[in-house]
Amino acid sequence: MRLNDLSAQVAADFLKAFNRPPRWIVAAPGRVNVIGEHTDYNDGFVLPMAIEFYAVMAADRPPGGENRVLIHSTAESEPASIDLSAPLRPSPLKWSNYPRGVIAGFLERGINLGGLDVFLRSTVPLGGGLSSSAALEVSTATLIEAVSGKKLDPVEKALLCQKAEHEFANVPCGIMDQFISVMGRESHLLLLDCRTRKTELVPMRDPSVELLISNTNVRHELGSGQYAKRRAQCEAAACVLGVPSLRDAQPASLQSARGKMEDVVFRRARHVIGENERTVQAAAAVRASQWQKVGDLMYASHKSLRDDYEVSCAELDAIVEIAEGIGPQGGVYGCRMTGGGFGGCTVALVKTDAVQAVTQQIGAAYKEKTGLTATIFGSRPAAGATVIKG
Ligand code: ADP
Ligand code: MG
Repeated sequence: MRLNDLSAQVAADFLKAFNRPPRWIVAAPGRVNVIGEHTDYNDGFVLPMAIEFYAVMAADRPPGGENRVLIHSTAESEPASIDLSAPLRPSPLKWSNYPRGVIAGFLERGINLGGLDVFLRSTVPLGGGLSSSAALEVSTATLIEAVSGKKLDPVEKALLCQKAEHEFANVPCGIMDQFISVMGRESHLLLLDCRTRKTELVPMRDPSVELLISNTNVRHELGSGQYAKRRAQCEAAACVLGVPSLRDAQPASLQSARGKMEDVVFRRARHVIGENERTVQAAAAVRASQWQKVGDLMYASHKSLRDDYEVSCAELDAIVEIAEGIGPQGGVYGCRMTGGGFGGCTVALVKTDAVQAVTQQIGAAYKEKTGLTATIFGSRPAAGATVIKG
């Protein structure tokens, strides 16, 4: 759904729920990471884009002046009711902790929002690896900025949202999701340096290409323990190489230290060091509209994640193989798993005029190979958080 139509829908939702039109409407997008996987906790680079799927909030002051934030979500049967007269703490109602943590961050800075009635509708699939959580946090933060008239610096806003996810939702996420949801711009990717937190908008204006996201609709549970292992292996490699983190290591120094580390540690490091290079190269190639180059880097990223980092799975590999089989003649430049791995989504760079055909081909071949149904949708790079009304 286009953002204008979605916002009209949420205004109607609000009217139905609260018997009056909303005074404010805000939106914040989900995201997909185009390249740069498992680089964030190695102080490296990521290249996400905001997608045309959003958490939209419509709001007004409560007519009785109550000092609480009441949020109805189309995704949850129980509304979140957040009392502003007492210190905020995480609540047993899990989903309320995302907005709760964000509100707490504003209150900590002395920004009082006052009571609100809110209606929330999100087109970002929940738990699908496209960061519905960051979209919810950043949407909440954008609403508070609109209501209070106090705009935060974008970096501070993103970090406030990340802190909410850490401390209230108890999820130790990196900075990528919140940064892109705040700072995304239409027809741009965002190159983010996870060490310095410097960002660079990378123009991707050519309308002849878009990103096609395919959700495998599987999540293999071994993921969480493996994640801690990977981190430890990266630290071990950095230690042998004598660098603060793998961000600082060069391919040549890794090669010469190969004998001093276990083979598995070597391969983990080779992924991270190579992935950082690929990410920076991909940003340059996007800037130059060199789509086959971008696509080749995406395939190389996938192979490295599959063979060296070992975080892929049969379903992700199946989609990448199908995409590779379709090839540039069929409109696919490249494809890779995106996100932490062990399930979740792939992202492909596809010719815009081939999107429908490719969607159909991937869907059918994935079904045939795995017996599963993939959820597939295309997106051009979307804008970051916006105030639509108010
Ligand atoms: P992802 O961010 O990849 O979608 P997460 O597990 O990080 O997955 O976040 C999903 C959680 O965020 C949901 O389980 C829910 O608690 C919360 N959430 C996200 N969007 C909404 C929404 N529109 N309404 C209510 N809760 C939401
Ligand atoms: Mg999330």
